[in-house]
Amino acid sequence: MSTFEGIIKEIPGISVDRFDGKNLNSTAFFLSHCHSDHMSGLNTVSFQNKLITDNLTLYVSSVSAEILKRLYPEIQKNVQTLPVEQCSVVKVHNEWHVSVTCIPAGHCPGSVMFLFETNHGSRILYTGDFRINTEDITKFKCFYDKFNEVKPVDKIYLDTTFFSPLYSSLPKRQDSLDELCKLILNWTTLDPANCVKLDLRAKYGYEYAFKEIFAKCKMPVHVDQEKFNFYSLIPEMDECVTTNGNETQIHNCKFIQKDVCVFCNKDKLRIIRLSAFRWHGDDFTRGISEVDSEGVFYVCYSTHASYQEGRALINFLRPKDIHVCVKEPNNPDGNVAMEILIKKELDRVNRIEKKKVESTNKLFSIEQIGWGEPRKRSRKNEDSGGVLDSPPR
Ligand SMILES: [Zn+2]
Ligand SMILES: [Zn+2]
Repeated sequence: MSTFEGIIKEIPGISVDRFDGKNLNSTAFFLSHCHSDHMSGLNTVSFQNKLITDNLTLYVSSVSAEILKRLYPEIQKNVQTLPVEQCSVVKVHNEWHVSVTCIPAGHCPGSVMFLFETNHGSRILYTGDFRINTEDITKFKCFYDKFNEVKPVDKIYLDTTFFSPLYSSLPKRQDSLDELCKLILNWTTLDPANCVKLDLRAKYGYEYAFKEIFAKCKMPVHVDQEKFNFYSLIPEMDECVTTNGNETQIHNCKFIQKDVCVFCNKDKLRIIRLSAFRWHGDDFTRGISEVDSEGVFYVCYSTHASYQEGRALINFLRPKDIHVCVKEPNNPDGNVAMEILIKKELDRVNRIEKKKVESTNKLFSIEQIGWGEPRKRSRKNEDSGGVLDSPPR
């Protein structure tokens, strides 16, 4: 859950993913993706009036623009789509412009990271929520200069949801979703009266899961009206959810009779929970799914980067500073531990930078200082074509 307050200190006048309080003084706005914890204030009269009366712009990806158009038609003239993986120049106020490049974040449909570059020489990456395979991070052209060298980055505003050695690695989403669909089909094909209850921790954020279920199990997921209204805003999800429980054996609705949807027989119910938290500290030797003594199934699934994926991003970009965007409001000790981890990462990458300057002639081994493969500073001369296997497709 994002706790970022919206202000990018290094670029006065812009706000990202927060639209209330002091953000109302900003003159250009950015939204990384349409999840409610990144949209605080966006629905308020004060923000929307400010956009309209001051003729200001909210910059988003094309999928997010489509969602916002359905959600808030009154501000659609102030919503502008940014192309993906292309640099756009955005006016912040009269004498101040900033270049911004949207990078696919692989978190949900339309989710992007923003790479901001100012003519004052700051370069800032705001990740929003992201999940990108470690090997894909080096594929984005916007991270390289004209000499094919990785551009120096001053600061990363980082999704730290799973930035902890407890979540060192997480299964690839495609593997998790294959497992989920297998568990669903094993049960639903056994008897047409069998039903699956998807017991999901968060209210939203299962776009890819529902899409994959529809593609593989050929059934929509029964959801309540509120969730239907949200998911059906996303153009590519039109058929993946339904409010008619009779139409499907898969349910993520409000479970009316105690724990069971009225369309399900509780004696013919398989409960499946999607979560990554249950696996903390685990190396997945016991698999990416399991069943407990009550017969409830669990599948490890994450739309946020694992610790290794977060570190791979840091290792590649070697920022001078990192801002933690996900703090736990009720866990001060956890937040201190997070700051210590982040400091360690910064020390590590800064040592690498220092070492690079000291030894200009010989290629050093990063392994000598205890971390993985040496990073290729130069981009391979290959066309990535923008094809990423990070988000399941
Ligand atoms: Zn999100
Ligand atoms: Zn139902």
